[in-house]
Amino acid sequence: MSPARLIDGKQIAADVRSEIKRDAAVLIARGVRPSLVVVLVGDDPASHVYVRNKDKAAVEAGFAVRTVQLSATTTQRDLERVVGELNEDRSVHGILVQMPLPQGLDARAIIDAIDPDKDVDGLTPTNVAALALGRAGHRPCTPAGCLVLLDRHDIALEGRDVVVLGRSMLVGKPFLLLALERNATVTIAHSKTRDLAAVVARADIVVAAVGRAGLVRGAWIKPGAAVLDVGINRLENGRIQGDVDFESARERAGWITPVPGGVGPMTIAMLLSNTLASAARAAGG
Ligand code: NAP
Repeated sequence: MSPARLIDGKQIAADVRSEIKRDAAVLIARGVRPSLVVVLVGDDPASHVYVRNKDKAAVEAGFAVRTVQLSATTTQRDLERVVGELNEDRSVHGILVQMPLPQGLDARAIIDAIDPDKDVDGLTPTNVAALALGRAGHRPCTPAGCLVLLDRHDIALEGRDVVVLGRSMLVGKPFLLLALERNATVTIAHSKTRDLAAVVARADIVVAAVGRAGLVRGAWIKPGAAVLDVGINRLENGRIQGDVDFESARERAGWITPVPGGVGPMTIAMLLSNTLASAARAAGG
């Protein structure tokens, strides 16, 4: 079998971002500039890098973007007040509170405080419920990005066996619902799943979102399957590796995402997409 075709997330994300830029220009010409505010608490170095990347992508798309930097000693009440003010500010279309928050802050309560219309991460109870009910709402960025990767390669979900590894609210569970909405037959695996290899082996599409470097072996993959690797694992040598053993998996898969350069770049593109949708709604169309 010839090696899998690569799903180039970097290129697809660049395409999506340039489409967003074009659509944003139309809104800007009507007097509404999409506006994103990132709330960053404390000084986690990785979070600073993520925020810088989001900031850069938003600026490139023509958005207004600003970071509210708060100290690591910020109280729950102060953070909720900041979110409340951003909720009230009509010039703000998207609010993102960068995770993780410093210890002692209740992340769930902060997410719950965000206006669902401005919840461009798609994590508030209202948006989670909208996804489960099949109603309009902001979809979580990483799983929505996975769907775009499949769509742009015409990899259909309908009637296919999809296996999702990981059941987080950020990736696994929302992808389960998105795939179900597309008429896939979905299995979700987690740390208590027995015989993970056998579960993965029946998948036409595998989405790995676990956080364990190289967990998924190439021998588990059904020949020709599409493999989306969400995992970001930093190795001791500083390199980033996914949850899938790329070299062995690419020998059996039909399609595969690299790490880095696969799912990762799509997350920011979908964040911009949600912010644009929010701005368009605020502009009345
Ligand atoms: P998470 O909240 O830690 O969830 C991990 C999930 O993996 C849990 O459901 C856990 O099962 C399951 N799991 C752990 N060990 C397992 C095993 N041996 N076999 C099967 N399942 C196992 O992680 P997350 O936030 O979803 O993130 C997952 C990975 O994706 C991480 O590497 C993260 O860095 C990455 N990520 C990437 C992006 C991106 O933009 N590309 C975005 C978000 C996350 P239990 O529920 O039973 O504990």
